[in-house]
Amino acid sequence: MIRKVKGTRDILPPESPLWAAVEAEARRIFGGLGYEEIRLPVLEPTELFVRGVGEGTDIVTKEMYTFADRKGRSLTLRPEGTAGVARAFIENGLAQRPQPQRLYYIGPMFRYEKMQRGRYRQFAQIGIELLGAETPQADVEVIMALHLFLAALGFDDLEIQLNNLGDPEDRPRFVAGLKRELEPHREELCGDCRRRWDENPLRILDCKVPTCRELVAATTPIAELVSPEARTHVEAVERGLADLGIPVRRAPRLVRGLDYYLRTVFEVVSPQLGEGAVICGGGRYDRLIADLGGPQVPGIGFAIGEDRLVEVLPEPFKARVLGVRPVVVLPLAGEAVPAAFALARDLIGRGSRAQVEVTGRSLRAALKWATKIGARAAVIVGPDELAAGEVTVRDLDRGEQERVPLADVAARLAGPAGTAPA
Ligand code: ATP
Ligand code: MG
Repeated sequence: MIRKVKGTRDILPPESPLWAAVEAEARRIFGGLGYEEIRLPVLEPTELFVRGVGEGTDIVTKEMYTFADRKGRSLTLRPEGTAGVARAFIENGLAQRPQPQRLYYIGPMFRYEKMQRGRYRQFAQIGIELLGAETPQADVEVIMALHLFLAALGFDDLEIQLNNLGDPEDRPRFVAGLKRELEPHREELCGDCRRRWDENPLRILDCKVPTCRELVAATTPIAELVSPEARTHVEAVERGLADLGIPVRRAPRLVRGLDYYLRTVFEVVSPQLGEGAVICGGGRYDRLIADLGGPQVPGIGFAIGEDRLVEVLPEPFKARVLGVRPVVVLPLAGEAVPAAFALARDLIGRGSRAQVEVTGRSLRAALKWATKIGARAAVIVGPDELAAGEVTVRDLDRGEQERVPLADVAARLAGPAGTAPA
């Protein structure tokens, strides 16, 4: 037997309809706010992520699926979406279009990580990017979009955490202070962090090793050292969100694992998820597009981990999606088949789900199958009924049945739930 690649997943029914419903909701909410879909390649030049995400990040140093193609070019399966959006923005001259550009994406990402709950090697993200606006209002809009989407799915226990990373100009001062405070404990840091000390000391802040975390927790938070401009910006974002009644909590230790973020960064945490608790991460990245060789265009966005989101979906949303039950149509003879399919088409046109029995099994077996798949009603199309212009409608919950004129049956069973026969 051939097995799937480690860290990848088969998303099967009945879970797959939840994914489709989540994505439909994302399209509805983000589309409603003026965000338009951008569909980008999964394969990108490796250099895009090395320069975009950052050389010393976990993603670039140990998580990328990088390989040489047949001509020896180094390609990488995208580990995240923002760098690709920035590349496409530059390459397609989106700066020439009306600003800001509101974009969203949905699709698979790849990271070579240790597998555990909520952590896969192929996973999906739903993200939005707002490009060409550097005001605090832009940040408020993006976080509002996130909140609106999560609320539409029925979440009410998720926490939005926010921090201020300041501007790149604030970093040397912060890093110097951090190193001064950590110097006495340098030998206690993990091997990775001792390497980060010179290469990318900021990344020490998001080390997951408990001793490193403890040492970092005793240092001065970055938000206390940022420029007055950055401080004013993020405070305006917090006020704007408070005005909208969107609860956010300051998280002084929140840094995010990608180099391009500045000023506003945020995460959404699910109390249910334990270790893989973070279901969304985002922030402002005003230098990314310029750093990749494009114009000076600011941006802010977030990415939701769809696998983790689906794992903690509220029950009412799931019930709404999974509660749609089909009608089965059972032709009892060859000559009843066209009428059966015609009826199924009519039902679908009226918003119902309808499945025609096609295996040729007996009526008894077909009714058993109908119950097994959760059908709400069976429409039995038999030769004698058909001759009389009627069918038999059987309510599968109550076990009652009656003859109904063929012309009335679709209207009677219309809609996702339909009305049970009287
Ligand atoms: P973590 O700290 O959990 O490794 P991250 O900071 O690396 O997350 P981001 O790069 O911010 O993650 O990606 C945004 C979201 O994508 C995360 O909040 C998470 O929900 C999801 N995500 C990231 N990596 C994975 C993965 N390996 N498997 C499933 N979902 C993931
Ligand atoms: Mg990670």
